[in-house]
Amino acid sequence: MPTEFDPSRVRREFPILSSRVNGQPLVYLDNAATTQKPRVVIEAISQYYKRYNANVHRAAHALSAQATTAFEQVRRNLAEWIGATSTDELIWTRGTTEAINLVAQSYLRPRLKAGDRILLMECSHHANIVPWQMVAEICGAEIDVLPCADGEIDLELFKRLLSRQPQLAALTHTSNALGSVFPIEQMCALARAAGVPTLVDGAQALPHFDIDLARLNCDFYAFSGHKLFGPTGIGALWARRALLESMPPWQGGGEMIEHVSFAGTRFAGLPFRFEAGTPDISGVIGLGAAIDYLRIQDRESFERHEQQLLQHALACCATLPGFRPLNAGHDRVSLISFLIDGLHPQDIALWLDQQGIAVRAGHHCAMPLMSALGIPGSVRASFAFYNTLDEVEKLAQALDQLIRSQH
Ligand code: PLP
Repeated sequence: MPTEFDPSRVRREFPILSSRVNGQPLVYLDNAATTQKPRVVIEAISQYYKRYNANVHRAAHALSAQATTAFEQVRRNLAEWIGATSTDELIWTRGTTEAINLVAQSYLRPRLKAGDRILLMECSHHANIVPWQMVAEICGAEIDVLPCADGEIDLELFKRLLSRQPQLAALTHTSNALGSVFPIEQMCALARAAGVPTLVDGAQALPHFDIDLARLNCDFYAFSGHKLFGPTGIGALWARRALLESMPPWQGGGEMIEHVSFAGTRFAGLPFRFEAGTPDISGVIGLGAAIDYLRIQDRESFERHEQQLLQHALACCATLPGFRPLNAGHDRVSLISFLIDGLHPQDIALWLDQQGIAVRAGHHCAMPLMSALGIPGSVRASFAFYNTLDEVEKLAQALDQLIRSQH
């Protein structure tokens, strides 16, 4: 099958992709769990430790000044990349999970009263469910759920749920379990018209396509660096300045203060008041390298290639006896979630692993979605731009072999 994009160039930039697993060439199809890192990211982290390791924002010496400059430059680059108008609106977090917890604890909790509502989506990752349940429980609030188990949402129903005036709508840009891309721009516009603030979980969106916050028009946007070809342990929360200014810090300590005495503490300005303690400096620098890497790529050609991988995977697997892909709706990223009649997802994943093919099996941290679908879990093969059509065929062949071995 011809493809205009040749992944062999980018594959050379990801050292791990030429390794072997269980005696077989690695076929890495677990990109929704975490992505692999290009050499520039690995190098940037290593250079930081080799040449300018120092704490940031305490520039009493040259190394600290150098580390601070590099660290804050990443914030500027990220702001520019995602269309944030100010670096003050970008808070470093450990990832999407911590970003959502920050909003739950610092934004929502002080506002939430007994009987208030929070609007969630059925297909959300636990990271975009549990933090809201925790504050709802403390404050006596109610949770409404927008159905989307087939990868589609009913905008009329969404409007009706918004008319119940939730204190926040916590949305998912792209489902990690189905791959569905939801009409976030439209949803945020409807929420804004209804006067409902929005948080968007972008963990699975940014790895596949660029975003423009000005167009999305949400109030909070969260993502993780490790799903974006950067290191683990780092991510970010973007939030509107006016909202951040109205929020109390959620963790106290060094870095987030202007003045401390036993009579009281004056907090630092934005964004530092939300970044207590020494940050993940090497993580930010590694993430910066990942962003620089992505910004010089033709991401639209990546997207087209990923869509080819998806279509090829669906076509190759369609003829497998008992193959049942979960419906992910019209708009989706390159990910297939499936079942095979008579085979347990875990056994399928174990067999694939023996062939060097890495996939994920289970509930994908989306148990409410699995319940709505009436299944305990699925197998998920999630693709990135560095995957090849050949790898897709290896997946289909390995599944075929497994199915045949059962008869
Ligand atoms: N949201 C979605 C849609 C995800 O896929 C994930 C991770 O799988 C998360 C949130 C949580 O991300 P992290 O564990 O990096 O905080």
